[in-house]
Amino acid sequence: MSKVLVIGAGGVGSVAVHKMAMNPDIFSDIHLASRTVSKCEAIAESVKSRTGVTIGTYAIDADDVEATSALIRQIGPELVVNLALPYQDLAIMDACLATGVNYMDTANYEPKDVAKFEYHWQWAYQERFKEAGLTALLGSGFDPGVTSVFAMWLKKHRLKTIRLLDILDCNGGDHGQAFATNFNPEINIREVTAPARHWENGQFVETPAMAHKQAFDFEAVGPKNMYMMYHEELESLAKFLPEMERGRFWMTFGDEYIKHLTVLQNVGMTRIDPVLYNGVEIIPLQFLKAVLPEPSSLGATTKGKTNIGDIATGEALDGSGEKTFYIKNICDHEEAFEETGNQAVSYTTGVPAMVGAAMLLTGKWAGEGVFNMEQFDPDPFLAMLGEQGLPWSVEELAEPLPF
Ligand code: NDP
Repeated sequence: MSKVLVIGAGGVGSVAVHKMAMNPDIFSDIHLASRTVSKCEAIAESVKSRTGVTIGTYAIDADDVEATSALIRQIGPELVVNLALPYQDLAIMDACLATGVNYMDTANYEPKDVAKFEYHWQWAYQERFKEAGLTALLGSGFDPGVTSVFAMWLKKHRLKTIRLLDILDCNGGDHGQAFATNFNPEINIREVTAPARHWENGQFVETPAMAHKQAFDFEAVGPKNMYMMYHEELESLAKFLPEMERGRFWMTFGDEYIKHLTVLQNVGMTRIDPVLYNGVEIIPLQFLKAVLPEPSSLGATTKGKTNIGDIATGEALDGSGEKTFYIKNICDHEEAFEETGNQAVSYTTGVPAMVGAAMLLTGKWAGEGVFNMEQFDPDPFLAMLGEQGLPWSVEELAEPLPF
């Protein structure tokens, strides 16, 4: 029986709060705060009509540590679940330290003025959380999140060491729009236009954005082109799987998406530095976000499935030599929408956010300090994930990936 404060009323916040309300034995008192209170109220209404549960709603600017601390004191939660944007991570961690409350998020901190997401800013909070006797859990979404837990499950149950790791993220959904992003456009475009980085022989190797293209046949989706890119869990996986020789992250993009993105980049619309327009400073990427469809509006029309998983090669636990395993989840956009009113990209992030919060609130995952997903037992997390709408499967592949 626990009181929780969720900050951020986007697609991910919406799914997490719906799923919390569906688990009242763990989440007995749910509060939702965000910059635009009307978005919290719309989610509260949907939660009420789908589950009968009433949740509290509040307006907050989470960049303001004082105001966030005051709200946390007013509500008195055991845990703050940060589902706002990566920019707010440090401010919300500061507010949690100021009020003595545990912290969790789904994306690592990113400063607004550099498209660079790295863990060192949040890892620097380790001593402060430890001294305060508090837990901060970083990156409990799908990727980062489940993809790291998948790797640790393979390491616990199938492989003694993980030599090669590839994370494959496929969104086979079609929303019927010429160009739109499935989660926050600003964060999404910053991520895909950044140079690719993969882990190889003890260091990160940087290559130009979208330069490595690979066709792959995804179960339940079919053949798709995927592109190698940098993703934040590579940093924590390299730390917690020191034996890993190579770690890569791949994401699928359709030709139409690439075409639009290339044009937007070429004309300067993805820039994150301010430009002067009619005497007013604007950031082109933020302006672009304002004219693109809201990701939450895509749910009603999106059809198809997502397929996200890890392919790992290493020495088998049973001593039978080198083996390759593929562990993944397949999620249906329409089913996700029917259950929570949000498409599968928000669903596959919001469900693990709820499960991560449940792990902390039930004490199945416990510790003092700042933790990544790799540091806890994967079993209770993956058991609950499967029961809560994201079933997963594992299979042995005949050979390592040929590319
Ligand atoms: P949205 O943009 O849909 O929602 C973000 C919400 O945060 C909005 O309600 C926004 O308010 C609110 N917000 C923004 N700034 C502030 C602020 N200063 N104070 C209070 N609230 C604020 O994003 P998503 O729901 O798609 O994503 C949420 C998070 O999940 C992001 O950090 C994203 O990077 C992460 N994510 C993680 C994934 C994973 O697998 N690990 C996958 C997808 C997303 P307003 O409506 O007023 O703008």
